[in-house]
Amino acid sequence: MTDHQPAKHAPVDEWESMLERFDDAAQLVNLDPSIHTLLRSPRRVLEVSVPVKMDDGRLEVFQGWRVCHDDSRGPAKGGIRFHQDVNAHEVTALAAGMTFKTAVVDVPFGGGKGGVRVDATKLSMGELERLTRRYTYEIAPVLGPDMDVPAPDVNTSEQVMAWLLDTYATLKGSFQPDVVTGKPLNMGGSLGRAGATSSGVLTCVREAFLRLGIPMAGSRAVIQGFGKVGGPLAFLLSSAGMRIVAVSDVGGAVYNPAGLDAFRLSDHHAQTGSVVGFKGADPITPDEMWSVEAELCIPAALANAIDEDVAARIGSKVIVEAANGPTVPHADAILSDRGICVVPDILANAGGVTVSYFEWAQSRQGYQWEEDVVAQRLRRTMEDSFLAVWQRADSLNVSLRRAAFVLATERVAAVIAARGIFP
Ligand code: NAD
Repeated sequence: MTDHQPAKHAPVDEWESMLERFDDAAQLVNLDPSIHTLLRSPRRVLEVSVPVKMDDGRLEVFQGWRVCHDDSRGPAKGGIRFHQDVNAHEVTALAAGMTFKTAVVDVPFGGGKGGVRVDATKLSMGELERLTRRYTYEIAPVLGPDMDVPAPDVNTSEQVMAWLLDTYATLKGSFQPDVVTGKPLNMGGSLGRAGATSSGVLTCVREAFLRLGIPMAGSRAVIQGFGKVGGPLAFLLSSAGMRIVAVSDVGGAVYNPAGLDAFRLSDHHAQTGSVVGFKGADPITPDEMWSVEAELCIPAALANAIDEDVAARIGSKVIVEAANGPTVPHADAILSDRGICVVPDILANAGGVTVSYFEWAQSRQGYQWEEDVVAQRLRRTMEDSFLAVWQRADSLNVSLRRAAFVLATERVAAVIAARGIFP
């Protein structure tokens, strides 16, 4: 796969990065200029103030957003993030990422995202609940099972979704479990949702290795991040016969060329909250981890982790992006020139939204699917999507990322063209 995009200027922020990739796809597919203009702006950005009575009696007002980038293919879909760095541009970029992600896996949703600028780690459970309920109240006018369907994201959980659903039910006077996904099982959640993103990443690793002629058994992997996605992935990759040679988290990184024991590492993490200090490995810095020689690298932590500098020295042959936006646009060309295959985020981590779609469908049916049905349909969706992206990359002779954006752009544009612009 080749990628000869000339390096331009450094991206200003996540929204600029998203536009840069979308503009490239628009050019590749010769997109209708009106549809191009339309998709360069989000349909709706709701900014809200969220007043919360803190435990010590003070009132704090947090800033929050709910963005719908595009809802041509179905209700806006995307998580809610509670983080101190959340801002309108980041939420808008993440919402656009959902527009393209839902189109790549061809689930009938558009792209949405929400966030509150708050350090959630400093909140008590009571404060977290009051924040969630007031934020839900403020964004309720734009929510709805056929309008905008939230889910968990960074620092939000099943419990947060349960409060959201209850607040929405109280406001509307009716229980509508299809207004949110990632909710607890006993409120209409789906079996198989917890590990869906990691399972989808594993399918992409399998498919990529198969086509590149690299055996998984005995191959080495490095993972950045040991959270909800990176943690289960260490197990899944080990079970597939891979050797996890390095893992990093926010506290540091550990390295063992003979392979880390994923089970023992998980125990250590559960006890200490970090991979740091794990006895079965040597300490290295998180930055050194990128240069570790391996067949596979999984970024499963932060946006913009792989910049030009990291891209120039990364020691892996294949990168499968479990995180959202881990590679900055100008690093793409460097990775491509070095012959490194990158499976992009909008394909690689789409397992989560795929099972969110299954959950939404189950909630609408009022009928729970068996776990093996969910797993089988997830695997098939990921395999079909991977194949579609791979074939398009082949036929256009571009990277998998550019091919995924092309495929998604075509799907979204076809629906916009058929529906037309009101009035
Ligand atoms: P998480 O908060 O559970 O875990 C994040 C991990 O990254 C933690 O281990 C943390 O220590 C580590 N980390 C943070 N800063 C780091 C740094 N500077 N260096 C190394 N490690 C660092 O989050 P998660 O749910 O596992 O999500 C990880 C990524 O995957 C995010 O980009 C998220 O948007 C994306 N994603 C998650 C899902 C999902 O279902 N959870 C779905 C799609 C995409």
